[in-house]
Amino acid sequence: MKSVSLPAAFPLLARVVGGLRATVTALPRPRRAPARCGDGAGHIALVGAGPGARDLLTLRAVARIGAADVIFYDRLVDPAILDLARPGARCVYVGKEVGNCAWPQDQIDRMIVDEAGRGHRVVRLKSGDPSIFGRACEEIAAARAAGIAVELVPGITAASAAAASLCRPLTERGETDTFVISTGTCKPGDAAPDRAALARPGTSVAFYMAVERAARVQADLLAAGAPAACPVDIVASASTPSERFAATTLGALTETIAREGLKSPAILFVRYPKSLAAARDRAA
Ligand code: SAH
Repeated sequence: MKSVSLPAAFPLLARVVGGLRATVTALPRPRRAPARCGDGAGHIALVGAGPGARDLLTLRAVARIGAADVIFYDRLVDPAILDLARPGARCVYVGKEVGNCAWPQDQIDRMIVDEAGRGHRVVRLKSGDPSIFGRACEEIAAARAAGIAVELVPGITAASAAAASLCRPLTERGETDTFVISTGTCKPGDAAPDRAALARPGTSVAFYMAVERAARVQADLLAAGAPAACPVDIVASASTPSERFAATTLGALTETIAREGLKSPAILFVRYPKSLAAARDRAA
């Protein structure tokens, strides 16, 4: 059978592919080559374990977990995910309760660096996305200070999983065009975030670590002018078998949490839709 070359058969397609190749070649190279597994050198991967459900892991996370010599994992990581580790891999629990550091961060930093320094492939497995309220900065800094290759493997953050469970998008065209991730719990001694900036029409906020601080969040938003009628959705343990929901308003937030007995881990979605601001203006 006669073979026909690509350029001969599809001259236009060949020109497009050639053009793309030229564009890719012309792109600037990244300043630092990303760390790779399996090259014999110790390295650290900060891996997002997602919100709980194992099938919300990324394929890259599965690959890093499967290649690890040692895995340091957090409280909110589903232990079923550790089944993906290879036989012989060590799994070390370094979990912390919210606001209560059972394992001091500097000890975790030292352990992951020591293990990688011995040539081990270290996975630091964190719930959700490691770059969101995950103390990743300290671990990246410790690895860099020790000259150890470090990599971030993104994960599905709790707000995305909670929105998916509600089947309600994080942004809604015409109603909320600003989406903010914020926290109810800050570093001890730090002032609370400026919540006045969050109480704006068109803004949707996902509050993490906020169930126990809901009274303060509620008071700050109301004081900043957010209407008590702002809709609030609470999703606890999103994507897990113990998932729970409550729909309420900003004015009834703390009462709802107490009545429903909702506990951490949970996401509080507080929305200030533009239509609510417009209705308020009309009524004024
Ligand atoms: N890095 C994580 C967040 C860690 S902070 C992420 O990207 O999701 C811990 C907080 O995350 C919890 O207090 C809670 O607010 C939220 N969280 C984590 N898992 C959750 C889940 N399955 N359902 C609801 N909220 C969750």
